[in-house]
Amino acid sequence: MVASIQDSANPEQAPDAPLQPQAKPAPVALVTGASRGIGRAIALELGRFGATVVVNYSSSPDAAESVVAELTAAGGRAWSVRADVADEEQVEAMVKTVLERESRLDVLVNNAGITRDGLLMRMKTDDWRQVLDLNLTGVFLCTRAVSRSMLKARHGRIINITSVVALMGNPGQANYSAAKAGVIGLTRSTAAEFASRGITVNAVAPGFIDTDMTQELNQEPILAAIPLGRMGQPAEVAGAVRFLAFDPAAAYITGQVLQVDGGMVMR
Ligand code: NAP
Repeated sequence: MVASIQDSANPEQAPDAPLQPQAKPAPVALVTGASRGIGRAIALELGRFGATVVVNYSSSPDAAESVVAELTAAGGRAWSVRADVADEEQVEAMVKTVLERESRLDVLVNNAGITRDGLLMRMKTDDWRQVLDLNLTGVFLCTRAVSRSMLKARHGRIINITSVVALMGNPGQANYSAAKAGVIGLTRSTAAEFASRGITVNAVAPGFIDTDMTQELNQEPILAAIPLGRMGQPAEVAGAVRFLAFDPAAAYITGQVLQVDGGMVMR
């Protein structure tokens, strides 16, 4: 069984308010790049807390379906939708489908991301563009696509997955760290624009997390740079996202960057 989030989904309701005749419908969360890794963990976590989860993917339909199956088997509601988040038309169509099927969208998690690493001197322009298009423009496209319905509803939580390399830089990742730093600027500007309508926009900055993305890396120097002495787990990032998405205390947090990095970057 999934946990009920009726109370935490409605932090504005006064404790002594009369009981509503009907339970509020479950919040709907769209998680981009939810077929694998951190996105998968976020989808499972939000589903566990009672959300209807829309699992976005680009090229792994079987993996996306297995996330849907796991959520459904646990008593939740979920479905998957294919869309390349760097493609404006596909993003618009995805959000239209979500709103047609669910009539609401409470939470957007901009998680989809890729790396195309290489030293700047030799970096191909294509590798620069692909990473910026997906990791930064994709966040803009998805945010803009959901904005009309969230602004109208005067309610919403947007959580953007950035990275600690946005804060510290990383040799071989000029494209990726530029895109992720852009996500932080985008997060803050959007937070300022949407605050008056009760919508919060925050970023979560993972350090090194054990997913497909980090499989090829030489772990020895990485572990030496992490005060907690280990890689993070996708579920640990998902817990931070769930806090920002559903915890009543998070209603007063906006425009922030929450690091989940084992102490790698302390500022
Ligand atoms: P991952 O295991 O490689 O998974 C990437 C996800 O993004 C997959 O579900 C993939 O779906 C999806 N995706 C790729 N291209 C897409 C596109 N064009 N449209 C929609 N979805 C697309 O990566 P991860 O490690 O979980 O990373 C998730 C996020 O966390 C990324 O934004 C990443 O930059 C960030 N992050 C990761 C780490 C880390 O250490 N792992 C650290 C900091 C930040 P398909 O398989 O269907 O294409």
